[in-house]
Amino acid sequence: MRVGVIGAGQLGLMLGESAKPLQLECLFLDPGDQPPAAAVGDCRLAAFDDADALAELAAFCDVITYEFENVPVDALAKLDGVPVFPPLQALSAAQDRLSEKQLFEDLSIPLPGYLAVDSRDDLDEAVDRLGLPIVLKTRRFGYDGKGQAVIRNSSDRDKAWDELGGMALIAEAFVPFDFEVSVIATRGQSGDIVVYPLTQNTHANGILDTSIAPLDSPRLETQAGDYVHRLLDRLDYVGTVALELFVCGEKLLANEFAPRVHNSGHWTIEGCRCSQFENHMRAVAGLPLGQPDCEGYSGMQNLVGSIPDSVRSLEDGHFHDYGKSERPGRKVGHVTVVASSAESRDRAIARVSKIVTQWASRTVTGT
Ligand code: AMP
Repeated sequence: MRVGVIGAGQLGLMLGESAKPLQLECLFLDPGDQPPAAAVGDCRLAAFDDADALAELAAFCDVITYEFENVPVDALAKLDGVPVFPPLQALSAAQDRLSEKQLFEDLSIPLPGYLAVDSRDDLDEAVDRLGLPIVLKTRRFGYDGKGQAVIRNSSDRDKAWDELGGMALIAEAFVPFDFEVSVIATRGQSGDIVVYPLTQNTHANGILDTSIAPLDSPRLETQAGDYVHRLLDRLDYVGTVALELFVCGEKLLANEFAPRVHNSGHWTIEGCRCSQFENHMRAVAGLPLGQPDCEGYSGMQNLVGSIPDSVRSLEDGHFHDYGKSERPGRKVGHVTVVASSAESRDRAIARVSKIVTQWASRTVTGT
């Protein structure tokens, strides 16, 4: 069976690696030069909305999926005769923060207060109605904390408006969360759902820095599992999804969802019986889903900008190199540790994090 994958970054690479043992052949479409997934399948170099390239992919493949959520929905909607999973209604809802929040509301999934902002007057109204601080975000094309500004004082409004005004925006109440989590789940073609253990995430400069799982909180697990079930069933979803949530005491508030495999689930490759990547491929190919159970206590450290020499020779970590050229802010690899207790996992991930911090300061000071 041939699976067309739109996007050939590191997520495509990991999808391609998990596809091989399932005897699925991946064909990728990506505009980049030498994208990571070219190592695991043929890659057509073209824009994501290139009609000819998409038509070729559709003609050659049995099913189409994507590893990147800013693919133009209109371009995919024109593909005839080949199923696209996850369904386009999921892609379309996730591409616009306003429709995403309306969907959460409709599903009674709790979320921070919000207001659409299309003018400077709307921004003033949002500050009045939501109270300060607020987070002003572009409705579309935001990622890794880009396209957003926190307004803490009334005087921050002009600066935020100068930066983001002119685009369709949304204002959200600032959530004083305890920490952030994501719940990753996969839904198969017959509606069966598997939910991965809840993952706790930290960010640095708006980019995911570390993830650890499982979280010792059955109550939060149950809530998150319930919310992700509602989302998947409503969207008649097929594939893997990630729902990101803020933890406030015993409550969860939805932030956003990604209709694809997710960086906060990289640890599932070594840490679970069946990874998020394998389950995504199983779902889109119509195969039975694998078990998401943990094999131990896992932690993942992202490698952003450059790869410290010593992570290549770690004794207790699984190092993944995406084969990308190094550039500030670019995700170039990650390390996963799997331990027999939460304490030893935390110690191992702290060792990797220290290597990354020391390497970053070495790069900055040039020593
Ligand atoms: P997002 O692109 O919406 O995932 O936002 C990136 C990061 O900004 C999140 O992971 C949070 O750390 C932070 N953030 C986003 N929205 C809010 C909010 N309403 N309140 C507090 N922090 C937020």
